[in-house]
Amino acid sequence: MGVVVVGLVGRLRTGTGSWVGRSTGPSRQVAQQVVDRAGGGCEICGVAEAQQIHHRTPRGMGGSRDPAINMPANLIHICAGCHVRVESKRVQAEGNGHLVRRSQGPSEAPILRRGVWVLLDDEGGWMSCPGSS
Ligand SMILES: [Zn+2]
Repeated sequence: MGVVVVGLVGRLRTGTGSWVGRSTGPSRQVAQQVVDRAGGGCEICGVAEAQQIHHRTPRGMGGSRDPAINMPANLIHICAGCHVRVESKRVQAEGNGHLVRRSQGPSEAPILRRGVWVLLDDEGGWMSCPGSS
């Protein structure tokens, strides 16, 4: 629901003390925002049940200390099959915005989500992406 809230996000952005997750993963609150955004279905295929949270910009690309890595725009809740496809077809995944180069920034990178180009934001929302339909 939309209650997921500007105030909460403001706190997450400004206070490192509210990061409750493991140091390499998203906080529980952020993970919940991503799960809520997905609504139970895979954010790539829209068909299968979402099971795994995927980092669009991988943590290993020198980004583990960048808080954007664990913000909602960098995270998608996807099914196991799509996760395997993303990891095994990286060029295609980059073309679809499922993998994002760190220099681009996940909130700036359009993503093909359930067949629609959108931009994800760090509040756990998304909007259709102008110009790349
Ligand atoms: Zn899927």
